[in-house]
Amino acid sequence: MFNNNGTPFMSQNNSEYINLPIKWVVVEGQKQVASLNLIKGITVYGEKLIKYKGEEYRLWDPYRSKLSGALKKGLKTLPILNGMKVLYLGASTGTTVSHISDIVGMNGIVYAVEPAARVARELIQNVASKRKNVIPIIEDARKPHSYFSVFGNVDIIYCDVAQPDQTDIAIANCKVYLKPNGIILLIVKTRSIDVVTDPKQVISQESKKLKDNGFYIEQIINLEPFDKDHGLIYGIYRPTL
Ligand code: SAM
Repeated sequence: MFNNNGTPFMSQNNSEYINLPIKWVVVEGQKQVASLNLIKGITVYGEKLIKYKGEEYRLWDPYRSKLSGALKKGLKTLPILNGMKVLYLGASTGTTVSHISDIVGMNGIVYAVEPAARVARELIQNVASKRKNVIPIIEDARKPHSYFSVFGNVDIIYCDVAQPDQTDIAIANCKVYLKPNGIILLIVKTRSIDVVTDPKQVISQESKKLKDNGFYIEQIINLEPFDKDHGLIYGIYRPTL
């Protein structure tokens, strides 16, 4: 749906996301998510910029970012809020990191862990050098004690490392950095764990692992059609202290 200037109308259905720097927009008949651009005029991965009420938003591509896919697939609440501290494991070139950076704003921080040197260089050039709330950490997430720039606990851990031990990596980081009642958003790439077992079974096996380690499971989302054989597990950390 477009107005006379060719810009998309903002959807009226933003009630769940009130006070959040994200909006639902309708572009070419499709409901899409967009985040308030922290760095006006600058795009990160060629995404479209949209003006609304004097503000600039970046369209958040569900085929490029699993968190956008999860929102489109019915994530009940986006637990990431302005001012929060987020530890992001598997930052890659920073596509999803950049949208989380928009959401937490300048009062928040995104610690972005990525060990692959070439990818991390792009993360620094395209994202961290322009967004002061993104702190790149060029380390292996299997060694959470090696992140010297993380101070104190974080509110959210987002893990998308596509490794066979992805859930163990997430849990190990939560034990070191996640505050009680903090949130884990774990992307499970089922084929990295087991290529033969039914993906649904792999996801339920990984969520059991989280439950056994003190997590309450709030929601599980199948990310198809945006990402085949991927799921998102949204858990709340309730360790016995
Ligand atoms: N989350 C990214 C996004 O939405 O833009 C995509 C992540 S990609 C699927 C997985 C990333 O995890 C790769 O960049 C890879 O280098 C990184 N990775 C793999 N093993 C890792 C580890 N042990 N610690 C941290 N990152 C790792």
